[in-house]
Amino acid sequence: MEIYQLVQKICGGYHPGVDEVEKLLCAEGQDLDYIFKAADEINRFYNGNTVHIRGIIEFSNYCRASCAYCGLNAGNKELKRYRMEPDEIIEVAKKAYDAGYKTIVLQSGEDLWYSKEKISYIIREIKAIGGLAITLSVGERAYEDYRQWKEDGADRFLLKHETINPRLYKSLHPHSTLANRILCLKRLKTLGYQTGSGFMIGLPGQTTRDIAKDILFLNRLEVDMAGIGPFIPHQGTALRDAPAGSNEMTLKALAVTRLIVKTAHLPATTALRTLGGQGAESAFHVGANVIMLKLEPYKYRRLYEIYPKDFGEEQSIREERREMEEYLKSMGKEVARDKGDSLRLLERL
Ligand code: SF4
Repeated sequence: MEIYQLVQKICGGYHPGVDEVEKLLCAEGQDLDYIFKAADEINRFYNGNTVHIRGIIEFSNYCRASCAYCGLNAGNKELKRYRMEPDEIIEVAKKAYDAGYKTIVLQSGEDLWYSKEKISYIIREIKAIGGLAITLSVGERAYEDYRQWKEDGADRFLLKHETINPRLYKSLHPHSTLANRILCLKRLKTLGYQTGSGFMIGLPGQTTRDIAKDILFLNRLEVDMAGIGPFIPHQGTALRDAPAGSNEMTLKALAVTRLIVKTAHLPATTALRTLGGQGAESAFHVGANVIMLKLEPYKYRRLYEIYPKDFGEEQSIREERREMEEYLKSMGKEVARDKGDSLRLLERL
């Protein structure tokens, strides 16, 4: 089947198989332009011309896990570690609310210093500010923790599966299993979280077919959000000498995900922005509709380095948001004013 026909069928609701998704990911030239155009149209159908700006508080860089690609891995003894106090996190959330944010993402390494009770307190206090959706991104935790935090008012949870290839997953995550990651994702969905997952592009040993399977996994899981970004090597990891993932394949994966998992919120990931070039801007023309901005004080930002990045001049939360709004407008985009809840969920209401 020609790419044009395949894309038309998928837009009409057809569920492609892995061979077909791989074929889309291998497209070049006019075929690729057509895929990008179709992904942009689907995005506009569901999200209009808007982009959601989410605020992310990276509140701890302690982590018990040993992910081979991540600068925060427990084995990186060079890294100075930090933890924000619960009240410090809540203060940042208040400033973000005043600056116009509608969603706060609370992200950390897998740090059990933040007990179920501590995170419950943070959630309840942030919800008491009023008008803020909370996304948790704190990794694999006990079912009871997930349940309690949902009851406390957490709205969403991000837990990337990183790769659905079990062999590759095992080689990158010696501390954990793919089965447990999937179990956590299923529990989060059962508990009623708007659930996000995602994966990396260009992991050493990853094939295009693996990426096709990653996209189909997102679809099977019926994710509400998906983060897709390039692998970027970090000096404090075993993969320091591996080449970075490509911007082009990341954009292809983003576009094909938009074609298939039509309603998911898709960010132009920080990693894509870090690699530079037109990557981030292009992402908004091939299906992305979300961008995340860091909110924690700069003294912590420099220490939350999953992969190396540039932090630029220090600015206030309000200034950074205003600058991002200007940037999006300069691209012809509008800034969304609502919380940006799951479109699948809203469709069901
Ligand atoms: S990716 Fe997450 S869980 Fe893995 S080492 Fe980094 S912070 Fe920890």
